[in-house]
Parts: sequence; structure tokens; C-alpha cells
Amino acid sequence: MSQTYDQIYQRFFNAPPPEHVKYGESKTDILREARGFIEGFDLTMQTQVGCPGGCLFCYVPSGRMLTPESLRGGQWGFEVRPKREVVKKFETHLREGQLADKTIYWSGVTDPYATRPAETRAIWDALNNAPAHLRPRRIAIQTRYRPDRDAETISDYVRATASSDGGPAVVVSYSIGSDREDLIRAWEKATPSYQQRMTAIQTLRESGIWVVPTLSPFGLWSDLEGTLRQFKGWQIPYITCLFFKKATDSANTPSPFLAYLEHEYPMLLDPQWQHEQLARLQSVYGDHVLLSKAGFASLTAPHRALEKMLS
Ligand code: SF4
Repeated sequence: MSQTYDQIYQRFFNAPPPEHVKYGESKTDILREARGFIEGFDLTMQTQVGCPGGCLFCYVPSGRMLTPESLRGGQWGFEVRPKREVVKKFETHLREGQLADKTIYWSGVTDPYATRPAETRAIWDALNNAPAHLRPRRIAIQTRYRPDRDAETISDYVRATASSDGGPAVVVSYSIGSDREDLIRAWEKATPSYQQRMTAIQTLRESGIWVVPTLSPFGLWSDLEGTLRQFKGWQIPYITCLFFKKATDSANTPSPFLAYLEHEYPMLLDPQWQHEQLARLQSVYGDHVLLSKAGFASLTAPHRALEKMLS
């Protein structure tokens, strides 16, 4: 039987997890120029500092430039600082033309949908009310939460927005790394279940929104092929995959989690096993499987990535 979240947390930090998430406040802006591994996008957007997801494999708390010192280690997932006046700041950037024809990654360091529903809803409303020339070229939403709560208003925006490069105005990069609820609950403190994620993906697709399922970080699966066939049924044209990463040049899995995997699930780090898993993905998706950086890079222009795969 796999260990629980609390047991793994105790093993990593020599203390039980805090009982509650502490909420503070951040005065920082919500937009910044894209740097590092998210290069390729013009801007990144974060509406809070820290993330209540508290995933034990999350690379963000181990990145010196990604989050403040006080939110790293055992605090990750237990202290969140929502930014002040998010909607007002967003409306100002939009009105002043700073988002016009830009590609925006929302977000690499906190889940954009682990926030108040009123906030994300207001952001889409602002976009829907903006004149065409002020709208971004593309917004890539990176999430493992429930963007389907805004499916209708995102869909309205997508239908009414013609991107300058002919691609979709919105793409949802949806993280789903396992269908095993025991592993999800052991590794992620407060994220949706596998079934909830599948419902989210289905709802988004039925609303005409581009979804790129991101099998990340790739864990153990009970029925991988069944999940992939479901994606195909929802007419998802390609998928991306990110295996757990050790000693690469960016976004490595944090060392306590690597040590845990080496002990409990060594196959997840084994290149031969990963190769076999890729073959399983390709058995359903052919060469419409993009790995690591190629998968991430595709999000800036997913229609171009697809054209390339089809040519
Ligand atoms: S939901 Fe995403 S950003 Fe939040 S802790 Fe989990 S992996 Fe990190």
C-alpha cells in the first residue's frame, strides 16, 4: 500500500504538515516578461504567490528564481499570497495595450485555477469586453484544477477572437499524470481527482476549446490506453508528456522527491521504462506525442505544431 501525503511530507521535512493554509497578500504585479524555460511566450501571468496544490513533486519551490525563500521547503502548499487587485491590474494592462497580440503563459509557478472563481471569471469577462485589437494572440492556461468552471465564457471569447497567426486564442495545457487516485492523493495535497480532471477536459473540448493533455509528471497508470482512447474520442489532436526529471537543465524534480522515487518507484526514473511508456503512448497517438521541451514549446502555437505533425 502506498504511503499517504502526510507520511511522505513527514519523511521529507521531519515534521507533520501544517493543519491549515495560511493566506497573506502580495503587492507584486501579475505580469512579467517570460524568461527561462518559458521563453517562447511573451509574458507570464500569476495571480498569486505560492500554490495551495502543495504537490510534493512540484519543481517551483526548488527554483531560487521561481518563488520566495519563505514559501519553499515545507511551506510550499501551506502559504499562499493572493495578489492585490488582480482584476483591476489585468484590466489596466489590457486597456493600455500591453497584452495586444502577445502570447501569455498563465502560469508556470502557481496553478491559475487554484484561485477564487470570481477572479478568473472577471478576467474572462474583461477579455470578452475588450476590443479585438487589444486582445492577446494567445493565452495558454497551465492547470490541473478546474478551468471548466469558466468553459462558457472562455468559449465565447474563443469564438469571438481571431488570433493574428490563425491559431486558437486559448489553449489549455491540462496536467494529468496518473489515473491512480491513491498516487494523486499521496503526491498532491489539494488537487482534483483523476475523474474530475477527465470531466474538466471533456467539458472544455465540448465547449470548443483547445486542450493539450500533458501527462506530467508521468506516473503509474491503471489504464493508460483507455485514457488515451478517451482523449481521441474528444478529438484531441496531440498530447505531451514529461517524465520525472533528474539532472537536466531546467525544472528538475526536487531532490527529496527523487530520493523517494528511487526508493519506492525506481521505474519512474528508468530511461528504459520511460522508453516503453512512450511506445504505449505512440500505440494510440502515433507520432502525435511531444516530449518535454518540444511539448511545452508547442503551446505558443499549437496549430503550427499540429501542422508539422501532419506534414
Ligand atoms: S498545482 Fe501545479 S503549481 Fe501548484 S503545487 Fe501542484 S504542480 Fe505546483
